[in-house]
Amino acid sequence: MSGDDSRARLRIAVQKSGRLAEASQDLLARCGLSFRRSRDKLFCYGEALAIDLLLVRDDDIPGLIAQGVCDLGIAGRNVVNEFVLDRGDGQTAIAELRALDFGRCRLAIAVPRGSTYTGPKSLEGLRIATTYTATLGDWLRRNGVRAQIVSLSGSVEIAPRLGSADAVCDLVSSGATLAANQLREVDTVLESEAVLVAATECTGERVELRELLLRRIDGVLDVRESKLVLLHAPRAALAAIERLLPGAPAPSVTAVEGKADEVSLQALCRGSVTWQHLEDMKRAGATRLFVLPVEKMLA
Ligand code: ATP
Ligand code: ZN
Repeated sequence: MSGDDSRARLRIAVQKSGRLAEASQDLLARCGLSFRRSRDKLFCYGEALAIDLLLVRDDDIPGLIAQGVCDLGIAGRNVVNEFVLDRGDGQTAIAELRALDFGRCRLAIAVPRGSTYTGPKSLEGLRIATTYTATLGDWLRRNGVRAQIVSLSGSVEIAPRLGSADAVCDLVSSGATLAANQLREVDTVLESEAVLVAATECTGERVELRELLLRRIDGVLDVRESKLVLLHAPRAALAAIERLLPGAPAPSVTAVEGKADEVSLQALCRGSVTWQHLEDMKRAGATRLFVLPVEKMLA
């Protein structure tokens, strides 16, 4: 594999196994991509489109893109951000193209349960253990705090108990790990979720493939929480019913053959459509209500 620009096929890197692996591959499948697995399962040849898949460790994804080995990747914002702040010279710039709405977590500051914290200044002069040295360093600088960053490759949360740090900066989703280590979450350094990342410049034949994939991803993200609502209503009740549609869509309304006073309405609603929504619309005069899942959308 090389970073050569004449490559006609697009390459996308996703996590091989771990928290983001399944949702990443699921997203690509929803975009209509399918792959033939190679025996080593690292490189998967794209069958449906000229887009191949590389299964790697999440930490390697930004580097693979910066080196031109891959065009796109799916990784946590925490990993992308750390790479961007810590990027070596001579590498291509990378950027977040889309937030993907899974793998949510935050990079948080936590301190031992009994200690006081009134803001970033409370960290002045302390030792803070983290794997995210560049991100933490940037945050401390922006807050005008001088502290010592203790770089660890794992098990950050036990550092205070071992006496090697006074606080930690680590990824948190539920907070259970922190609680188990008698730590208290006190500040957020970065809100994270899985993101689609790519080189800021894309040239050659792959530009069109990249655009096509982006449009499909947008379509998948758009419909994920969308429902199609169908109903009939007396013309006089239309305005009231439209106000009750969740997500404020602009519905299409058509006349019902042979019934001057009745219309049929079709609306794409964002967010969930609950029984309560349906009951309210029925009370307002709607009949024959249907809520349908949306599979694909191309605006
Ligand atoms: P790899 O073998 O690929 O290096 P890993 O152990 O670094 O795996 P995971 O633990 O699978 O990675 O986490 C991958 C990403 O999932 C994180 O970078 C982060 O963006 C996200 N994530 C979501 N919730 C959490 C959490 N509670 N702890 C850690 N990461 C989380
Ligand atoms: Zn990792």
